[in-house]
Amino acid sequence: MKINRLRLLGFKSFVEPIDVVIEDGLTGIVGPNGCGKSNLVEALRFVMGESSYKAMRGAAMEDVIFSGAASRPARNAAEVTVFADPAGSPLPSGIAAGEDLQISRRIERDAGSAYRINGKDVRARDVQLLFADAATGAHSSALVRQGQIGEIIAAKPIQRRQILEDAAGISGLHSRRHEAELKLRAAEQNLERLDDVMAEVAGQFDALKRQARQAVRYRNISGDIRKAEATLFLIRWQAAGQRLAEAEKALTAAAACLGEAAEAQAKSARQEAVAADRLPDLRQRAAEAGAALQRMRLLADELDKEEQRHQARKAEIAGRCEQTRADLAHEREIVEESRAALARLAAEEADLAGATGRRHRQGRRRPPSRRAGGRHRYRNRGAAVGRRKPACRCFCRAQRPGSSRCRRRDPACPV
Ligand code: ATP
Repeated sequence: MKINRLRLLGFKSFVEPIDVVIEDGLTGIVGPNGCGKSNLVEALRFVMGESSYKAMRGAAMEDVIFSGAASRPARNAAEVTVFADPAGSPLPSGIAAGEDLQISRRIERDAGSAYRINGKDVRARDVQLLFADAATGAHSSALVRQGQIGEIIAAKPIQRRQILEDAAGISGLHSRRHEAELKLRAAEQNLERLDDVMAEVAGQFDALKRQARQAVRYRNISGDIRKAEATLFLIRWQAAGQRLAEAEKALTAAAACLGEAAEAQAKSARQEAVAADRLPDLRQRAAEAGAALQRMRLLADELDKEEQRHQARKAEIAGRCEQTRADLAHEREIVEESRAALARLAAEEADLAGATGRRHRQGRRRPPSRRAGGRHRYRNRGAAVGRRKPACRCFCRAQRPGSSRCRRRDPACPV
């Protein structure tokens, strides 16, 4: 690999973009102390993938970014680009043979570094391998920093071996071998994991076979279910069609009924209007009829009471009539008895008159007058003569004392 040009932008003291052209032959950089000569070598290490900030003489890798000066503000990013000719070195993937290489590294504050080869983003490892295959790199002995010669003289055999391997151009092989060993170890670990996975998969195989059988059975049953559902839906569809036809018929009939009902409703509305017009008069008449009915009910109640009074009066009069008839019969009996008594008295008087006449004619004495005696007189006479029973002396006109025919039953009655 032959480095043709080095471009710096914002790297340490190189705040402005600068291209350092490296021509054929020997190229030297001359300058006073502190002008930035060592910064160029560090720029080469930086772009070759240096990861140690101590090798960059800083407290952090971001210290390589221009930190500002009295007349310039600080930058937020630094970028170093190397233009090189592969010259037979192994090329990374994606780079055509004969194509020049443009390797760059860009670092930003709080964002880290990004590597690019010919504009394509790559890993830091790819850039380090690229320079290692070209027998160079950030740690290559080809880059000699200040004090490194003394370190080489005092170095241990292993470190000297590394310097010699770098000089022989096999440091890339060592790096690749180390990477291959890492990959092999990772592959072995993957194989072990794969064996575990195989064992686990073998354990899952039976379960999967069982699930596969269940899936086949499920698919068959699902097909049967779909067929049955299709048949069911067909039957339902046909039934729904029949119901739809019936519903349409019913709808037609209902529409006809609705028309008739609307016509009847209109007619009823007219009648209602007429009735509503007549309603106040009818209500007035109903109120009057109600009042008349109430009056008639009151009158009927009074008539009922009057009838009850008449019935009671009639019963009383009937009782009096009955008593009057009984009294009349009793009086008739008395009259008959009196007639019989008069007849007997007349006979006795005739007898007495005959006897008196004879005595008058014998002694000239007049017989007693009929009027001088009276009723009780005759009674007494009858009682005296023993042919008549004693009559009640009260005014009940009973014939026999204590008889049930004594109607007054007066406690003052001496009978
Ligand atoms: P010497 O010959 O003494 O070794 P030199 O020419 O190698 O000196 P360098 O050591 O490369 O010089 O550069 C040091 C200069 O770089 C100093 O002036 C320092 O201020 C400047 N410098 C280093 N880091 C930065 C930075 N991050 N930002 C700005 N300037 C920096």
